[in-house]
Amino acid sequence: MTAFSAQLPATVPVTVGDRCCFGGTDLVVIGGPCSVESAAMVLDTALSVAASGARMLRGGAFKPRTSPHTFQGMGDPALDLLAQAGERAGLPVVTEVTDPRHVDRVAGVADMLQVGARNMQNYALLAEVGRSGKPVLLKRGLAATLKEFLLAAEHIRVAGNDAVVLCERGIRTFETASRFTLDVTAVPVLKAESHLPVIVDPSHAGGRAPLVAPLARAAIAAGADGLIVEVHPEPATAQSDAEQSLTFAAFAELMVQVERVALAVGRTIGAAPLAVGASV
Ligand code: PEP
Ligand code: MN
Repeated sequence: MTAFSAQLPATVPVTVGDRCCFGGTDLVVIGGPCSVESAAMVLDTALSVAASGARMLRGGAFKPRTSPHTFQGMGDPALDLLAQAGERAGLPVVTEVTDPRHVDRVAGVADMLQVGARNMQNYALLAEVGRSGKPVLLKRGLAATLKEFLLAAEHIRVAGNDAVVLCERGIRTFETASRFTLDVTAVPVLKAESHLPVIVDPSHAGGRAPLVAPLARAAIAAGADGLIVEVHPEPATAQSDAEQSLTFAAFAELMVQVERVALAVGRTIGAAPLAVGASV
């Protein structure tokens, strides 16, 4: 990493689909369930987050769970349910790919591929998503330095794909009051050191619903280009990440709060769709 530069490199926007552009004045908020659990729940969530101003839909099909004895995701059927929900709600979709052998399949359905924190240094996977031709949402490893994070993005770039969005999602520290510790400092450092858009995941960082909105506000104040937030029709019943999932009402309220902060730092949220070109 070079010395912190006084002059910020200009962020080169990354576009997804024809409505979404990360790294411009307008922020992109991604909302949706941790895991796709049924057609109805992902569609209800998609329609609700879209109505609240989200610009993309998230939802896991293949879940990298700490315990092999917990829900591992619905797998392939979830990809179609996610894509159908996104289509109905008018939102491009992002979903995690955990295995290099799945990349073609997932890229055939998703508008953007997520590489999760636990796979940030899975170099075979990084190379494969690099070859996929789809924009990539790269999450920071839970114990990765920012230099390692940027070099992981570089693995995707050298495989032929410049369309990478970085996501700070909290790191492991000695603190146990939250699931992880949101490294707000990562936002200005990454913006200074790289031309890639940077978004923040306040859900996995906080790990508890009441922490999500405050962390989201801090992220936008620090200069993040967007957010990815977990939302569930009935959080208490969620099969993964129940504690940190927001209700539809809580997500709507988060969007109102985030918009106030966005305006204070010269950003907009949910402005008219931009005329954007091809993403990769
Ligand atoms: C997720 O987005 O549901 C997820 C598993 O995130 P992370 O890789 O950041 O833990
Ligand atoms: Mn999750």
